[in-house]
Amino acid sequence: MNRIAVYPGSFDPVTLGHINIIQRGAALFDRLIVAVAVNLEKQTLFPEEDRLRLLRKSVETLPNVEVDRLDGLLVDYVQRVKAGVVLRGVRAVSDFDYEFQMAAMNRRLARQVETVFLMADESAAFISSRLIKEVAAMGGDATPFVPSHVGPELAARVALKNGGRNR
Ligand code: ADP
Repeated sequence: MNRIAVYPGSFDPVTLGHINIIQRGAALFDRLIVAVAVNLEKQTLFPEEDRLRLLRKSVETLPNVEVDRLDGLLVDYVQRVKAGVVLRGVRAVSDFDYEFQMAAMNRRLARQVETVFLMADESAAFISSRLIKEVAAMGGDATPFVPSHVGPELAARVALKNGGRNR
């Protein structure tokens, strides 16, 4: 059986928490498609091309992982690529409510698509894209929480946004 899973998210930017879920997902499924949500309601720090590029570089050593853009409804995408599973990660109780709602909605939209959750690894349970952007924006060192090629780009983006403050 060819088990294909889709791991959707905004990845703004990719963190070591995401990488942990990707590595574990790659071991569980034959193929894992990391789907980067574009045209989001929320404003992102990194434009779509950067979020895709940083992720692609992060997974280049994982042969059964690919990165794609996700435009439109997740369940439509999942069915288009013939995947049966949506992969998501959960950190704390605070993630649960949103994840539960989304999984339930997706199930109503497409009953045959299952959402599979992986519990955050204890080493990454406190890492979120939102928090590492906050740390970087306040002049803190966010490099321990992101892949090595992401650190310098995060600092540069934040500096650009701050217009040189905290430098
Ligand atoms: P979204 O905007 O859809 O929440 P994110 O890029 O923030 O997208 O996250 C994508 C998925 O990865 C979500 O399921 C989120 O809970 C999960 N995730 C994010 N950070 C971690 C982490 N440190 N450990 C485990 N799962 C995580």
